[in-house]
Amino acid sequence: MNPRVEINLKKIRHNTETIVTMCRRMNIDVAGVTKVCSGNVDAARAMADGGVKYLADSRMENICNLQDINIPKMFLRIPMQSEIDYLVRYTDYSLNSEIATIKKISMEAVKRHKKHSIILMIDLGDLREGVWHEDFQETVRGIAALEGIEFAGIGTNLTCYGGVLPSKSNMTMLLNIAHEIRKRYGISLPIISGGNSSSLHLVDRGLMPEGINNLRIGEGIFLGRETAFGKKISGLYDDIFTLYGEIVEIKRKPSLPCGEIGVDAFGKTPEFVDRGSRMRAVIALGRQDINPEGIIPEDKDVYILGASSDHLIVDIEESLSKYEVGGEMSFRLTYGGLLQSMTSGYVKKVIVNENI
Ligand SMILES: *Cc1c(COP(=O)(O)O)cnc(C)c1O
Repeated sequence: MNPRVEINLKKIRHNTETIVTMCRRMNIDVAGVTKVCSGNVDAARAMADGGVKYLADSRMENICNLQDINIPKMFLRIPMQSEIDYLVRYTDYSLNSEIATIKKISMEAVKRHKKHSIILMIDLGDLREGVWHEDFQETVRGIAALEGIEFAGIGTNLTCYGGVLPSKSNMTMLLNIAHEIRKRYGISLPIISGGNSSSLHLVDRGLMPEGINNLRIGEGIFLGRETAFGKKISGLYDDIFTLYGEIVEIKRKPSLPCGEIGVDAFGKTPEFVDRGSRMRAVIALGRQDINPEGIIPEDKDVYILGASSDHLIVDIEESLSKYEVGGEMSFRLTYGGLLQSMTSGYVKKVIVNENI
């Protein structure tokens, strides 16, 4: 079955256990984020088995699929008002920043005789979601007045848009806001969520201030990296996923195209370097399946030359492996590569359960 991504569940479980243990030492609970896996149920179950306290996703379709896994669900994207019935039905927690939307959640929760827990997002400067860190008071008062809502905590998201790194200083800012809300409004605010995988480096180095008690972790578990500096986390697997594509052509060709050059299929004018005649392979793997910038040949001597909608062109001149038509080539995935291949309906997802 090609193309396909093979997913090693034992490695997901191992990475989850390792990160959960590391966080637990600092009194931090982990929400396992499944979105980079398109909410894959087997991956989510491996995370749950590995000890995450919540499962979290940014897409309603994904999180609705995880119903059978019996741990609390956290919705990550600021919810659309048009999906609030699903939100209240299928999730327990959501990250929010708009009082108008939270009011609608409250109404829906009351209607369904349910409680929905809100984590208010605070923008500490990354400029993606959240109420600005200087003016949260009015939203806090608004939430506190609503029925059907549990004001469960505050959180922040960093390194996503502005590239702002989590630090002792911005984590302390978040804690100070929590402290102020608790004191002024008498809200217990049990959850203080200090970000995504980019916050792991603070945990790893013992720099996370006490009081941050939740992190939302996807990439750290799935790729074995903290994302602030892109460093591998020791003791974690960074080869959970392997992408396979099938070779449909192998030929020696010049490295410069012949004829007048216009634009390629995506409106770009391609550029070429003349390296003489080279052995090349065409793989049945294109932009409908993958993001060519996000895949890395496992064979270090293979170079990606380019990709169109359905074809990936690679230079195999220097490779020591014997490739043939009908054979396969394998790739490691970056975050972007994993996201695209797990999202593409053309790429099969194959679970491997081999021992590690
Ligand atoms: C995607 C996302 C996360 C998880 O990010 P990773 O880098 O995969 O750990 C956490 N929080 C929010 C709000 C997200 O959208």
